[in-house]
Parts: sequence; structure tokens; C-alpha cells
Amino acid sequence: MARLDGKVALISGGARGQGATEALLFAREGAKVVIGDLLDDEGQQIEAQIAELGGDASYVHLDVSSTADWDAAVQTALDRYGRLDILVNNAGILGRRTGIEDTTLEQWDAILDVNAKGVFLGTKAAIPALRDAGGGSIVNISSVAGLIGSKNGIPAYQASKGAVRLLTKSTAIQHASDNIRCNSVHPGMIITEMTRETLAIPEMRDFYDQNIPLGRLGTVDDIANGVLFLASDDSSFVTGSELVIDGGLVAQ
Ligand code: NAD
Repeated sequence: MARLDGKVALISGGARGQGATEALLFAREGAKVVIGDLLDDEGQQIEAQIAELGGDASYVHLDVSSTADWDAAVQTALDRYGRLDILVNNAGILGRRTGIEDTTLEQWDAILDVNAKGVFLGTKAAIPALRDAGGGSIVNISSVAGLIGSKNGIPAYQASKGAVRLLTKSTAIQHASDNIRCNSVHPGMIITEMTRETLAIPEMRDFYDQNIPLGRLGTVDDIANGVLFLASDDSSFVTGSELVIDGGLVAQ
């Protein structure tokens, strides 16, 4: 039996990168998947790829900072598949690399709107459907940047990911009685479009090459495998926890 047989999942930011890999993996594991993103062409391609594999996915346009978009995405899961069991709050943006003094209010708001408010709105929209399904799993994608500060870190990004870490624990505690679990995932340096510019800066690339104990950068599969564990019933006694997937970077 596949690990997500009979389950319905909603993944934000599922058109590319980690979210797309999770959508494909979840479908292979038997889930029906609603993919939400701003990137309509890419999202529809992932929907088609899942159909080619014999799975079932529906792409919806979703701006995670919009309450109306979240309500429509959850409704799509209910209308097409009759239930919702899993929410992966994966959508995120990094923003320009600035220090605190040159971070503008607009930049702060833009990052917090997607990375923090987006997780809050998604969680709020999904909880009634998860409760109606008898419980479920919410997986929030934070970052190692939500665990520790960094000289080269982007302050608004760090603050947003720290907010995700604690919102996860509030959700876990307030909704344990609904049998809704909620955990955060903390990726380290993963090769995706988001990190392309960072990894092109020689000093940054050198830093990661020299400081990851397992001696390599992370892949989207490294993260998707952890998200699958937290989404599935394999983690039925895990809630309010933090899964760090970083090759040992923040353990030292
Ligand atoms: P990515 O840029 O490839 O994917 C992010 C996705 O989110 C894109 O498809 C994008 O269109 C979507 N998105 C952005 N704003 C959105 C919005 N307002 N509404 C809906 N969708 C939106 O990057 P990724 O590495 O796959 O990132 C996935 C998650 O992992 C993010 O939350 C990111 O912060 C987090 N993360 C990434 C790394 C890394 O090294 N790549 C490390 C730690 C955490």
C-alpha cells in the first residue's frame, strides 16, 4: 500500500522547486493533489505530468497572501476530491540580500506577506476541512533561517521563517484535539531557483561547500522525503516538532 493512499493534499508553491517535487511524490504515493501557485504555466505542467504518471492533480491559481484564493483552493479539494487531509505551506520568497538598515518597509511587508501571512491564511482556511476529514497533517516549510541568525542572512526572511516555526507550534497545540498535526521543516541550502543567485556568489558557494558536514548541497528530493514522512500516518505521534534537513549545517 502506498503511504498516502486515499488522502487529498493541497500544496502551495507547487509549480516548481520543492513544492513540485512534493506534488509528484505525493501523487506517486497515492494522494490526490491540489497544486496552488502564481506560476500558472508551470503549475499546469506539473498537473499534466502527474496525470501522465496515472495520478490525479488539479492546478489552481493561488496567491498565498489572499484569503479569497485560499478559500477557493480548499474548495477545489472538496469539490473535486471530497475531502482534505494534508496541507503543505511551501510557497515562499527570499527577496533581495540587504542588511537591516537598508531593508525597506516595502521589502519587509512583501516577504512577511508571503512567508508568514501566507502560512497563517492557509492554515486558517484548511482547518475546517481537515477537521471535517477527522484530522490531518499540516507541514509548514520554514528554514534553517528560522532557527539561527546569520551575518549574511536576509533579516525579513529570517523573521518570516521564525514566525512560521512558532505558528506551527501554536497550530499543533490548539488543534491536537481535532487530530490535526502540524510540524515545521527547516531546509538548509537546497539547489532550486530560489538559491541560484546566492550560489552564484563565489564566497557564498565556498561557505556552503566548506561548512556542510555531509559535504554536499541539498536536493529537492531530500526535502520532499521529509515532508512525505510528516504528511503521512508514519508520523502519527509527531506534532509541534521541527525537522531540520540541512546536512548537519546548524548542528555544529
Ligand atoms: P522556488 O522559488 O523554486 O519555489 C517557491 C514557489 O513558491 C514558486 O513556485 C513560487 O512561484 C511560489 N510562490 C512565491 N510566492 C507565492 C505566492 N504569493 N503565492 C503562491 N505561490 C508563491 O524555491 P524553493 O526552494 O522550492 O522554496 C520552497 C520553500 O522552501 C520556500 O518556502 C522557501 O523559503 C523554503 N526554503 C528553501 C530553501 C532553499 O535552499 N531552496 C532553504 C530553506 C527554505
